[in-house]
Amino acid sequence: MRLMKETAPAAPADPAADPVADLAADLAAARPVRSGPPLAPGADRYLALDLANSDLAFPGSRDVDLLGTPESAREWLVTRELAPAETVLYDVCAGRLRALRDAVRALLSARVEDAVAPADAVRAVNDALTSAPSAALLHWDDVHGPYRAQAHPIDQIVNHAIAVLAADAADLLTAPDAARLTPCGATPCRRFLVRTHASRQWCSTRCGDRVRAARAYARRTRGTAD
Ligand SMILES: [Zn+2]
Repeated sequence: MRLMKETAPAAPADPAADPVADLAADLAAARPVRSGPPLAPGADRYLALDLANSDLAFPGSRDVDLLGTPESAREWLVTRELAPAETVLYDVCAGRLRALRDAVRALLSARVEDAVAPADAVRAVNDALTSAPSAALLHWDDVHGPYRAQAHPIDQIVNHAIAVLAADAADLLTAPDAARLTPCGATPCRRFLVRTHASRQWCSTRCGDRVRAARAYARRTRGTAD
């Protein structure tokens, strides 16, 4: 489910005056150039997994939160086609995205560990799910007459984005893919992935290489000590 799936009027008299066309043009002008490392397996299909993986940890305590500032959160949304390019986010908006991420991560962890889901995380996802109308609403104006379009005035962008992300989280958690969810096994990485095969433990080649190098080093050191 993506943001811009409106049922536009069949033939607007003046496309330049069509707010739906304007938004589509804005999105086309902001083609995704994602920040951060390559997506973990599954995050290409689940925006919620991509969201959960937006707080990155690298060796040497180098953490990068892709939602850490209003500007980086704006970029994250725009490059995932969850917001038009001209969106301006405030601190509170980035904070809401981070709060939803915390809830989604808690639910993914519970699913992986076969544990009871924290009630507040379930509630946070459900609140986000219902924070924006998902139905295409009826609009009626002098230019187009009656038509249906998703309701997403610019000040509702964040509500809509978190509703889309929460719906995707609910989809992921209830899909067969959820049985293949796993956290990356390479400390300190905290990304989740959907395993592409049973033995897959790393979110990326880089994480796998790091663990293999550490194991090889441990073997060499043991060999020296003996
Ligand atoms: Zn990793």
